[in-house]
Amino acid sequence: MRPSDTVGNTPLLKISDKLYAKFEVFNPSGSIKDRIATYIINNAEQKKLLKKGDTIVEATSGNTGIAIAFIAAERGYKVKIVMPKNMSEERKQMIRLFGGEIIDVEDGDFDRAIALRDELSAKHGWFNTNQFFNPLNIECHEKTTGVEILRQTENIGKISAMILGTGTGGTMMGIRKTLIKEYPKMKVIACEPAESPVMSGGEHGTHGIQGIGDGGKFLVDLKVLDEILLITTEEAKERAKKLIKEKGIFVGFSSGANVLAAERWIQKNNPEGIVVTVLSDRAERYLSLF
Ligand code: PMP
Repeated sequence: MRPSDTVGNTPLLKISDKLYAKFEVFNPSGSIKDRIATYIINNAEQKKLLKKGDTIVEATSGNTGIAIAFIAAERGYKVKIVMPKNMSEERKQMIRLFGGEIIDVEDGDFDRAIALRDELSAKHGWFNTNQFFNPLNIECHEKTTGVEILRQTENIGKISAMILGTGTGGTMMGIRKTLIKEYPKMKVIACEPAESPVMSGGEHGTHGIQGIGDGGKFLVDLKVLDEILLITTEEAKERAKKLIKEKGIFVGFSSGANVLAAERWIQKNNPEGIVVTVLSDRAERYLSLF
């Protein structure tokens, strides 16, 4: 068995009576992004678009970069990761440890990171996993994360809502596709950084909830969202700290944002069924920022 064969099939944690969360830190490189990295790379290998020694290029806030660098180390690819300078040092160290090379762009500038990735891919013929626009990103969560949640909640209760922040939007749109077939009345709620409320119609700004609020809607179909909740970086960080100290759930800031948004929504709406969210990554990659 290879490390990448252990991706997915993560546990579903009970956070409170009505709130359940996919514990994605169980993936081998520590985040939900192992799912799309393996899915897209496996697909490219099957289509013979990738062979040993080739170079993969991607733009990322870090976790996709870590995930791709991990699989590349396992399978013998080279990796170039384009990312904004203000992403955590731990993320950069992990990418480098797996053998990836980092190309910096200015703080929070995902548009530039994506444009530079495309230029580099075209110029050098590097394989572009294209996470922000790749339908395989959605398909992966539809066929894996969403299906797992359906199975894991079967004996717990009906799902009233799913609530989570979006980066590429792949997690949100993929899980939704699976769950909405079983629960057509399910509410779909996004959360985004209050400092950069782009999907709510506000201005793009820098924020510290790495992994979500990348400055665009990307794969998110805004028409399917029932609500968008705003969470500040400080609130997300404090909620993550409390999950760690009071529950032993060692997760990063976007997980804090997801849990807080879900708790606020549950408090206000008192749903009949349960609410699901995800705990996207492990807290180690934020130690310098807590
Ligand atoms: N949280 C974290 C920590 C992430 O790294 C990401 C991925 N950028 C997300 C949430 C959002 O996932 P997605 O790209 O599928 O919207």
